[in-house]
Amino acid sequence: MIEFQSVADVRRWVRAAREASRRVALVPTMGYLHEGHLSLVDEARRRADAVLMSVFVNPLQFGPTEDLSRYPRDLPRDRALAAGRGVDALFVPAVDTMYPPGSEIRVVPGPTAERWEGAARPGHFTGVLTVVAKLFHLVEPDIATFGRKDIQQAVLIRQMVRDLDWPLEIVVVPTVREPDGLALSSRNAYLDPASRRQALVLSGSLRAAHEAFARGERRAAGIAAAMRRVLEQEPAVPVDYVAIAEPVALTPVDVVDQHTVVAIAARVGGTRLIDNIILGQGLA
Ligand code: AMP
Repeated sequence: MIEFQSVADVRRWVRAAREASRRVALVPTMGYLHEGHLSLVDEARRRADAVLMSVFVNPLQFGPTEDLSRYPRDLPRDRALAAGRGVDALFVPAVDTMYPPGSEIRVVPGPTAERWEGAARPGHFTGVLTVVAKLFHLVEPDIATFGRKDIQQAVLIRQMVRDLDWPLEIVVVPTVREPDGLALSSRNAYLDPASRRQALVLSGSLRAAHEAFARGERRAAGIAAAMRRVLEQEPAVPVDYVAIAEPVALTPVDVVDQHTVVAIAARVGGTRLIDNIILGQGLA
């Protein structure tokens, strides 16, 4: 695996890949890799010939009171995991490389970014879309893979690609979980053993939503009630939102179907966690 810090080196590598008629996949991450990230690599390798992973903790997507400075990082471990899974090139830019002094243009999303995560984290999706747009320009990939774990992010990136006429395919990969249901996340590193146990209430409530749907419940209110029964068992976990929404722009629905997204955000011992399912697919 080759590693780059500079934009010029990335462009040179991409040019050589293109000249060799290789399809290029981009896997954007903030590092501290886990099986979720690596499943994006697997999918990228299935669909392309050359895989570039970026590792960049993007300051622009963190709010002023968020965890930018303590976000977990371990580049040597990331290197080993990425290389072991078949990443061809690792792009690890410095903050100044992505945002040279004076850089001030941003990609501003529409109303879809004002709901759910966007309401809780003002400016977050502007930061996400700006860095992803820059990576798309630098790499000009044929495809890019994103996790369904961050479903609103995936929805907004699809919208950006559509609305800005980007000629690339966005592939959204199912959420990878621990055996007990917890969605893998770099932020799980913040959880102490008690919080780790309490965190199961997120996937537990989603499982309850899926079970209610499988029993024939089609009212969003009924799905929400099934989730509440689970969430009430863990009063120490304040719920930020439960979203029951259609999958294209994540607008709330009253009546659900197999494509409906059920998403939750909650605070577990000071760590904000998110998770979601597609109702027809359960925790898959
Ligand atoms: P992050 O490093 O948290 O910014 O995540 C980088 C990419 O990995 C994003 O597309 C995430 O949606 C994806 N991702 C994070 N956690 C998971 C997971 N548990 N399963 C699948 N993809 C994930």
